[in-house]
Amino acid sequence: MNCPRCHGTMVTDYFLDMEDSGDVWMSGWRCLSCGEVVDPLILQHREAQQAHQELIGAISQNPANKTQASVAVLSKKS
Ligand SMILES: [Zn+2]
Repeated sequence: MNCPRCHGTMVTDYFLDMEDSGDVWMSGWRCLSCGEVVDPLILQHREAQQAHQELIGAISQNPANKTQASVAVLSKKS
């Protein structure tokens, strides 16, 4: 896996999951170059945000026909 910020090498690391009981370790990734930390929750959130922005972008690029733009994005993902 490459760093989303600097495209450097990322290594598996373990982090405390403070959201739950406070003593649960979860695995994630840490960038050796810039120190960027990505855990599964952050990754999931970023992917959801990116998909949402792609959908908004596709619709806004075709303001004349919103229905066709939505169909095009949905068929591309499936
Ligand atoms: Zn990095």
